[in-house]
Amino acid sequence: MSEETKSLNFIEQIIEEDLKSGKYTEIVTRFPPEPNGYLHIGHAKSIVLNFGLSQKYGGTTNLRFDDTNPIVEDIEYVESIMNDIHWLGYDWGGKEHYASDYFDQLYEFAQKLIKKGLAYVDDSTIEEIKEMRGTPTKPGIESPYRNRSVEENLDLFERMKNGEFEDGSKVLRAKIDMASPNMHLRDPIMYRIKNAFHHRTEDKWKIYPMYDFAHGQSDAIEQITHSICTLEFETHRPLYNWFIDKLEIFPSRQIEFARLNLNYTIMSKRKLLQLVEEEIVEGWNDPRMPTISGMRRRGYTPEAIRNFCNRIGVAKRENIVDVALLEFSVREHLNKIALRRMVVTEPVKLIITNYPDGQTEWFDIDNNPEDENAGTRKVPFSKEVYIEKSDFMIDPPKKFFRLGPGRSVRLKNAYKVTCDDYKLDDEGNVKEIYCTYHPNSKSGQPDTSGIKVKSTIHWVNVADAVPIQIRLYDRLFNDEAPDGHKDKDFMHFINHDSLKILDGYGEVNMKDATMEDKFQFLRMGYFTMDFESTADELVFNRTVTLKDAWAKSRGKK
Ligand code: ATP
Ligand code: MG
Repeated sequence: MSEETKSLNFIEQIIEEDLKSGKYTEIVTRFPPEPNGYLHIGHAKSIVLNFGLSQKYGGTTNLRFDDTNPIVEDIEYVESIMNDIHWLGYDWGGKEHYASDYFDQLYEFAQKLIKKGLAYVDDSTIEEIKEMRGTPTKPGIESPYRNRSVEENLDLFERMKNGEFEDGSKVLRAKIDMASPNMHLRDPIMYRIKNAFHHRTEDKWKIYPMYDFAHGQSDAIEQITHSICTLEFETHRPLYNWFIDKLEIFPSRQIEFARLNLNYTIMSKRKLLQLVEEEIVEGWNDPRMPTISGMRRRGYTPEAIRNFCNRIGVAKRENIVDVALLEFSVREHLNKIALRRMVVTEPVKLIITNYPDGQTEWFDIDNNPEDENAGTRKVPFSKEVYIEKSDFMIDPPKKFFRLGPGRSVRLKNAYKVTCDDYKLDDEGNVKEIYCTYHPNSKSGQPDTSGIKVKSTIHWVNVADAVPIQIRLYDRLFNDEAPDGHKDKDFMHFINHDSLKILDGYGEVNMKDATMEDKFQFLRMGYFTMDFESTADELVFNRTVTLKDAWAKSRGKK
């Protein structure tokens, strides 16, 4: 479906109404990551949605780091997040925002609420506060500190800021309604004392705002018109609006949508961090990780990720998307752009006994039959070539159409050959295969050889073969919903067989490969070069297989 024919989703409907009614002439959205981990495919959905809306309707999208929790946040994460958003193809107009930039203003907002008699300092411990909050069916109890005077609250709050009190000894709370059916309105905490070093404000602050007080107020300060967040914040919305109302600030509108869930995939940063820390994976950018950096290293393209995000759309109800749809989007794009190359992953030498010693022929082969503009490349052919071990059988069954004693195949884009003999090594593995080639079966010319073949196999010229390490990845979890089990932790479902390494050879052109190139290795799948490549051995990650589980399951192919 093209962009134009797609019907509007519910967020686009809201925006179009707001533009039509003249409420806004330009929209401002934001992407507000907490810099406590790398971005994952779920964040990509939010990025594509937020930046996509401001592109479509005119306006801007702010990048705002939600850096209100100094303990878990880190500059490494800030940098990786910016890098990933740029790579996805989006820009936030040069200047990134930080919730910490607003700490002074948030402090003044809090004073304003105190002065209005709408906030108070509570000396209760966190446990006592929890206790007094009640349950959804039982109203809470008012704190004994709830009715402090404005003066006392202003004084205590200032002294909290100045570092006069221990961590956890006091909090600032909004004075709303301890009996509200909405638990978030039962005098929520606005500020807590934390004597912690912050990566940007350093040791200036001894108090830090809670998410609910920082987030909405930051939206208002930046005049965000549509503040899009995931469904779990729906119950926070009355509080979001209460602060806007009482502070008399810019009325950003919070809109919730269903987060992206993918089967076979973990998407919580905390759990992804656990995989990194326990060295289940090599790092946040391990090609098996659902992180943007992992997917980039694996060979996914920004186009494919954006297409995927647009394809799944936005919904108001939680659902689980099949990871095969993501792989389909990747395959779909790579099929258009990937350069075809011949690579043999488990090489066996094939010797053409009747081919002249020392002769080399160069064949022109299409780089990509799907793309006329991709041109051709020259591939050398001579007396000795490598073929795939699995393309030869000593005693092949009837259904096996490739090579065996007395059988013929076509060597892709070259000649037909017939197997005469083979040699085994000491362990009984096939070491060499001896063939006769048929000169008048040359690819692209009239074939008068009279030889019938049932298959074509790929090969690599021995003399100039390029050593290549191939990394094949499988899913990191062997359960559809690794974090959906009550009795078992997600770590229980790790697939310990998710990486397979093979040493093979590629055609001579592989020498010129760069990290930006995308390849299709014939019959093996789509590949991209890894940064661990060395001069002695290039390393290639398999991005996806050629097999299309998604299209098959829908009867498309
Ligand atoms: P996680 O739960 O994975 O740690 P988070 O929501 O705590 O993620 P944030 O850094 O707060 O991570 O998220 C930044 C933005 O990305 C938020 O607006 C959030 O709603 C959005 N987001 C996070 N995960 C998803 C997801 N799975 N699908 C869609 N949007 C998401
Ligand atoms: Mg969060």
